[in-house]
Amino acid sequence: MSIKELKKKNPVIPISELEQMAFCQTSSNLRTKTLEEEFQSGVRWQKAPTRYLRLSSEEIEQGIKESRSILGDQLFILGHHYQRQDVIKHSDVQGDSYKLSVLASQAKAKHIIFCGVHFMAETAEILSADDQNVILPNMAAGCSMADMADIEDVQEAWNDLSETLLEKNQIIPITYMNSTADIKSLCGQNGGLVCTSSTAEKAFKWAFKRAKRVLFLPDQHLGRNTAKSLGIRLDEMVVWDPFKKMGGLTKDQIKNSRVILWKGHCSVHTRFTTDQIQNARNDFDANIIVHPECTTEVVDNSDYVGSTEFIVDTISNASPGTTWAIGTEINLVNRLAMNNKDKKIFCLDPVVCPCATMYRIHPAYLLWVLDGIRAGLLINHIKVSPQVKKNANKAIERMLSL
Ligand code: SF4
Repeated sequence: MSIKELKKKNPVIPISELEQMAFCQTSSNLRTKTLEEEFQSGVRWQKAPTRYLRLSSEEIEQGIKESRSILGDQLFILGHHYQRQDVIKHSDVQGDSYKLSVLASQAKAKHIIFCGVHFMAETAEILSADDQNVILPNMAAGCSMADMADIEDVQEAWNDLSETLLEKNQIIPITYMNSTADIKSLCGQNGGLVCTSSTAEKAFKWAFKRAKRVLFLPDQHLGRNTAKSLGIRLDEMVVWDPFKKMGGLTKDQIKNSRVILWKGHCSVHTRFTTDQIQNARNDFDANIIVHPECTTEVVDNSDYVGSTEFIVDTISNASPGTTWAIGTEINLVNRLAMNNKDKKIFCLDPVVCPCATMYRIHPAYLLWVLDGIRAGLLINHIKVSPQVKKNANKAIERMLSL
């Protein structure tokens, strides 16, 4: 079904998520095609000069290698685990968003190329020095979850909550790393912090030492799973729906809550189901490991739950001969299978579905931005305003000091 048809059927679903839905139906072949062929899948891509459209994988690879050797240590290329292999192989370091944000903050290179999605490049820009340039190879590489928390909606929600909860120390905002710089800034400005899936528990504990409740943005599932693991009951959590007045909540519901979850989710991780878990156990006697962006039902039924780095470490350290069904993004699952041939590894979801927005970092875009640097041009230079940077930095620093 085309994105137009999907939009007609699902008017309130953000366009980035509809793209994910459209993309899933064409994703059975993850081989990198030319940019032109990939444009034809109907998903939004950034316009690039014509000469990059038809380059073969070999021509692109050769061009990237040449630029890397000329630019040398002026370049630092970060690759998120969910990137396709044809991009990852050119990266200096790989990691999840937390590990990459730490590495970006320590980088000395003049040009930091972030092969990930927009919010990650923004975070790197917030943490980088003024004389460093952060570049995202394709500006259309966003995140459907981050898009679900628009700054105007969040500011309005924060105003409503502040008017409802008048006394001091009533609420602290925590935002998942997967959010825009504006949202991180709002948290920093209002005594809150950023977290990742590996620091979420610590962030909640930090917040509960300082206030009665938490507003968690933008992933309701990570928020719910984290709060539940800390002993907070489901009936102490409410969901704030940005499409409804006062989030669809009464003042009493807000006052009686301990956690207010923003109604956002990851289109990739919410595809996993308890039926898939049952099938993986019945058919393969598999160990089940999932990411905490999955629904609470899935997390509760799994054997292991943890961040992307936790999944990588657990699989890498598992005994030979063991079987693993993994509930996370398919490019990472495929890479883990490739690097752990002594174990049986497969994706929990039998319908292969990569993160459509991560997939937009086609290697031709990487070549394009490297060619730009060689020509003295900063293509897709990520910039965050000084005020937003200052407040977002506060929220990130609080996380880094946990
Ligand atoms: S996997 Fe989900 S949360 Fe991660 S970048 Fe893709 S859409 Fe966003």
